[in-house]
Amino acid sequence: MAKPIILTIDDEPQVLNAVGRDLRAHYGSDYQIVKAQSGAAALEAVKEFKQRDSPLALFLVDQRMPHMNGIEFLAEASKFYPQARKVLLTAYADTEVAILCINSIGLDQYLMKPWDPPDQNLYPVLDDLLSDWLANVPLAYDGIRVAGTLWSASCHNAKDFLSRNQIPYQWLDIEKDTAARELVEAVNKGHGQLPLIFFPDGTVLVDPDTRTLAEKVGLRTRATQPFYELIIVGGGPAGLAAAVYSASEGIHTALIEKEAPGGQAGTSSRIENYLGFPKGVSGADLARRATAQAKRLGAELLTAQEVIKVRVEDPYRFVTLSDGTELSCKALLIATGVSVRELNAPGIKSLTGAGVYYGAAMTEAAHYRGEHIFTIGGANSAGQAAMYFARYASKVTMLVRSSVLEKGMSQYLVDQINATENIEVLARTNIVEVGGQDRLETISIKYMDTDKIETFPAAALFIFVGAVPHTELVADVVERNRRGFILTGPDLMRDAHRPKNWKLKRDPFLLETSVPGIFAAGDVRQGAVRRVASAVGQGANAASIIHKYLESV
Ligand SMILES: Cc1cc2nc3c(=O)[nH]c(=O)nc-3n(C[C@H](O)[C@H](O)[C@H](O)COP(=O)(O)OP(=O)(O)OC[C@H]3O[C@@H](n4cnc5c(N)ncnc54)[C@H](O)[C@@H]3O)c2cc1C
Repeated sequence: MAKPIILTIDDEPQVLNAVGRDLRAHYGSDYQIVKAQSGAAALEAVKEFKQRDSPLALFLVDQRMPHMNGIEFLAEASKFYPQARKVLLTAYADTEVAILCINSIGLDQYLMKPWDPPDQNLYPVLDDLLSDWLANVPLAYDGIRVAGTLWSASCHNAKDFLSRNQIPYQWLDIEKDTAARELVEAVNKGHGQLPLIFFPDGTVLVDPDTRTLAEKVGLRTRATQPFYELIIVGGGPAGLAAAVYSASEGIHTALIEKEAPGGQAGTSSRIENYLGFPKGVSGADLARRATAQAKRLGAELLTAQEVIKVRVEDPYRFVTLSDGTELSCKALLIATGVSVRELNAPGIKSLTGAGVYYGAAMTEAAHYRGEHIFTIGGANSAGQAAMYFARYASKVTMLVRSSVLEKGMSQYLVDQINATENIEVLARTNIVEVGGQDRLETISIKYMDTDKIETFPAAALFIFVGAVPHTELVADVVERNRRGFILTGPDLMRDAHRPKNWKLKRDPFLLETSVPGIFAAGDVRQGAVRRVASAVGQGANAASIIHKYLESV
């Protein structure tokens, strides 16, 4: 396959040669470096690349050029390569313009001239953007293929697992693709089990469980040691942040995740309120970056392993995994987060995975191109999903209990929703029933103010109602509140008394539970602010408290 292209444009020959030289030195082995001396010449080249179907990864463009400036060029060139990363070379006076362009043309970065030394001022920025591009743009395909139907819950689960673990795959819909159907029938021999997953080495897995699939695609599912100083349960933002900070402090750390690193945040199409990402960041990108960071700093990450039980035998804490393995540690961090609460309406259970989905289920969005879909829930997660699905669906109807979106959603999202023509908000509504034979076909809703019931044809429903904490694993071990959220630090003190059975001569630390050495961080805690930044902050904080704890045992 041809090397992807980096296209750089500057009207000053000396500057152009210098950029070209620096780019070749660092990227020449993996990318084709192409130079152009004007916007017009570069645009001609872009059209040619497009005709040849050559992959183009990045534009690095000077802002100040005669006839067509950098921003004008990028606006035109993006029409041919919308996924290519866009970097503007600016002078100090152009920074305001560059910032405005983050929204108007989706500028990824601006760099000030001169960029010397490139090791500090050029390569780190471009490395980041290029790894982002590689992770998001499908190149010529010779990888894993998943064959099945859109209406099978196990097909959805397999696709969701692969994409949330950043494993690229190609989807073969056997209802639309005759060759794929024949292939499946030849392997399945009438058993009808789906999905079938074809691997480049010729092996096929038939409806595998997640651990078998994880092992086949090369994810680590087994611990290398029986004992760690710190075990973290849950790989959402809280768990990943704790892994990054504890591993960087030299604490021997293992993180155990039952599905995919990233947690709820990993399912978000675009997080716009996380510090340092002015253009927003997709949950998948954030998860990929955090996972790489935690591993690089020395944390061990196990995927597709659920912790089903926790027990204490001083001075150690033990976790039992779903495959029966037991691991021990000195300190344990519970960062298991929450899940969307089940919606109890007739029809929901039998159609889950066949048009009805819990959470964002981004893997499914593109399949509903041109159709009418529904979301239920009034928090940010539902708002983001509606914005994302509106790119594909002909219409998105949001069902919300409250009278106005502002009651449960950030204003920036409310504004985006109001400005999106194909999103409709039905306030003060609830679902009374969903219907369909093998797949969702109708949704019946009730208007709460009039009790009127109305039925709509519907292609898909995405559910975002309330949150249930994952704390069964510590049910008989640490104190929880009535809804199952874990109590920590000052919340455990009643009339200045320490928790029952607490034997130490100190109060519980800030994020410590009612059992010394077991900590909790993120959404799973009572009273947590359910935000990515807050989970990350608590994870980082937990790591430093755990460091202090480990020094005392
Ligand atoms: C669709 C969506 C969009 C969102 N958008 C935003 C946003 O734009 N901005 C924002 O600030 N917040 C947003 N949030 C909220 C934010 O994602 C959460 O507050 C944050 O992810 C909480 O992090 P956490 O680590 O505490 O828990 P989680 O993210 O819930 O992660 C917990 C992890 O633990 C794992 N786990 C659970 N039980 C076990 C077990 N027994 N064994 C092993 N692993 C286990 C789970 O699989 C999960 O990966 C959004 C949430 C959703 C659902």
